[in-house]
Amino acid sequence: MFNTIRMGHKRLDTISAYMSYGSKLTIKCLSCGHRIELDPAKTYWFFIKRRWSTKILDAKRRFRCSECDQKRIDIYPGGLV
Ligand SMILES: [Zn+2]
Repeated sequence: MFNTIRMGHKRLDTISAYMSYGSKLTIKCLSCGHRIELDPAKTYWFFIKRRWSTKILDAKRRFRCSECDQKRIDIYPGGLV
């Protein structure tokens, strides 16, 4: 019953997982703390069109901070879509 709902423990390790979970992607720069939220569906298709891996571990390498131009970023769940 209720114990089958474990949304808090769901592993969001791909962009499509964020899409099905209905959570935005928070992209945070580890150098300056700049943060943006992205729509998971738009981000997913952006990656697919470029034949980029949509695994979060791989996706992390695709972003560059617009504030400080660094590439050390983290991705974690944001607000609901
Ligand atoms: Zn930055």
